[in-house]
Amino acid sequence: MEKAKIARIESAPLIGQRPREAGNNSRLNIHGIDVHLQVMRLTTADGASGFGLCFAGREEARQLLGRDISHLLTDDGRIASAARAFDFPLWDLAGVLRGAPAYALAAPGDAPIIEPLRVPAGQCLRVPCYDTSLYMNDLGLDSHEAGAALIAEHAREGYEKNHRSFKIKVGRGARHMPLEAGTARDIAVIKAVRAAVGPEAGIMIDANNGYNLNIAKRVLAETADCKLFWLEEAFQEDPELYEELHRWMASEGLSVLIADGEGWAATALMDWAREGFVDVIQYDIFSHGFSHWLDTGAQLDDWSVRAAPHHYGRHLGNYVSGHLAPAVAGFTFVEWDETSTPGIDASAYRVEEGHVLIPDAPGFGLALDEAVFRAAVKEGGWELRL
Ligand SMILES: [Mg+2]
Repeated sequence: MEKAKIARIESAPLIGQRPREAGNNSRLNIHGIDVHLQVMRLTTADGASGFGLCFAGREEARQLLGRDISHLLTDDGRIASAARAFDFPLWDLAGVLRGAPAYALAAPGDAPIIEPLRVPAGQCLRVPCYDTSLYMNDLGLDSHEAGAALIAEHAREGYEKNHRSFKIKVGRGARHMPLEAGTARDIAVIKAVRAAVGPEAGIMIDANNGYNLNIAKRVLAETADCKLFWLEEAFQEDPELYEELHRWMASEGLSVLIADGEGWAATALMDWAREGFVDVIQYDIFSHGFSHWLDTGAQLDDWSVRAAPHHYGRHLGNYVSGHLAPAVAGFTFVEWDETSTPGIDASAYRVEEGHVLIPDAPGFGLALDEAVFRAAVKEGGWELRL
């Protein structure tokens, strides 16, 4: 890595908006329209810059000022452990300095970018994604039929935006509806979404720990014809109950994957993944971090366990998550939370036939609107200069 001293650090809050208000999940109330980002930009003495989501504060960031980026990277081009609080801006900056996308820097040197992931005609990386916007916006509707039709309409809207896989929030009976009615509503919604998006689409359900083992069995049994791809956070992860769920599914001829790990993940979750109780690990892309995800992904590949990082509510996860795909064989999906944020130019990315097309541009291939970002730094952010 060439010499490049960090001479300026700026951090600013930006607010994005979803096209549709996100409703409840099984445990929380309405998630709303707004999406809050904190963006840090690192600029070198020569004027090269990289940016990304980063919640590190001014005092923590001061340690970077005047440091040469070569001291923040390991010999193999990864981010040094001590600098991982600045993971995303540093990966972006390293990509800018090297003229290479983050996914190319992240993939092991002896394992070239996996060819089938590329779009044949171009240089884009093509990574499967799912529409994660199907929240419980139906709770104000009395009839299951009307509620299911509303969520199915939202799924169709995603389909029109080129999504081919969809995740539905379930567990209405955990808090927001009486147990029996909420469970019946979940089942009606799943069936309506399947009918709306056709037999080829991927459908996942996410209970945010709002089910128990028996409710999970009932929902999976009654939606067996919907061929769900995964069940996420059915209940607080428990190897005993997950083992029983796997055993029961095998006896029923069901093959729904068990996904877990987005929040408050049990410290033993990786052990349970290794032992086969959990099929898909979902640590958050930002709180776990890109660099830690590379380590975790390699471990999961050794065990043939899938990876699908969670990222809901930070917008930039739509773009950065898929950069892991060439390095992690089991990378299954980018979680796509449709949002637009003034100040962030993500026009190099697009969703096409259920895949995120990731540009062959330096770093994460995103750009800042200078005027919007500077105004945000002045109004609600901070900066440090050498
Ligand atoms: Mg979830």
